[in-house]
Amino acid sequence: FIKLDNVSKMFQNLTVLKKVSMEIHKGEFIGILGPSGCGKSTLLTLLSGLEKISSGVLHNNSTKGKSAFVFQDSCLMPWKTLEQNIAIPLEILNLSRQEIEEKVNKYLKILDLYKFRKNYPRELSGGMKMRASIARALVTDPEVILMDEPFASLDQILRERLVDEIYEIYLRKNLTGIFVTHNIAEAVFLCNRIYIFSFHPGQIIGQIQINKSNMDMKKYRNSDVFHQ
Ligand code: ATP
Ligand code: MG
Repeated sequence: FIKLDNVSKMFQNLTVLKKVSMEIHKGEFIGILGPSGCGKSTLLTLLSGLEKISSGVLHNNSTKGKSAFVFQDSCLMPWKTLEQNIAIPLEILNLSRQEIEEKVNKYLKILDLYKFRKNYPRELSGGMKMRASIARALVTDPEVILMDEPFASLDQILRERLVDEIYEIYLRKNLTGIFVTHNIAEAVFLCNRIYIFSFHPGQIIGQIQINKSNMDMKKYRNSDVFHQ
């Protein structure tokens, strides 16, 4: 579905990613773990097509326009309100006003932002902006979702709620996900496979396969690792 074969990425003469090979099947959720600066965000920009690879081969067979990106720094349009920001991808898809309103309201509610729908990003906290950015990604019902530390600035309760929400969407829709995180408990909960990257250059140094059929998801979700 998505395949990287010895993909490297350089910025000027800095090799950020070196010979990265991975295969992501449809419906898989992949975790990316590694120290700050190892190239995790760069990898997502390559997968989304925002940046070009320097060498190697990248195949992406997902439907064009059906991937959504949750950026590390939320990336909302400052001159638009929250509801207008979340509506942007739906306007691009040419949905009717009524459909747009229904979907936007649904995700404003799921992400607990309905009260703030008329506010501008500058009037919101970091966590609220992040939630708006997650809403903007999910509202299009994407085939692939790329998330760059989406829960980093959220408090524990919201974090857990969002992890559950994304897991449910993932089960319901056969969503393919690539999830950059520093939280291994969340990665184990959400992902089928976790790639671990080294720093300078960013290379895959390990891979963890999570066998969900041997895992009591509820028990794991309610265990202590999740509430730290
Ligand atoms: P963090 O966990 O802190 O978010 P990261 O793993 O996401 O880190 P990246 O943002 O991918 O790391 O950056 C990896 C390296 O690539 C860094 O050294 C960074 O300075 C460099 N880099 C990223 N984007 C660019 C760019 N557009 N131009 C030049 N260098 C870049
Ligand atoms: Mg990053």
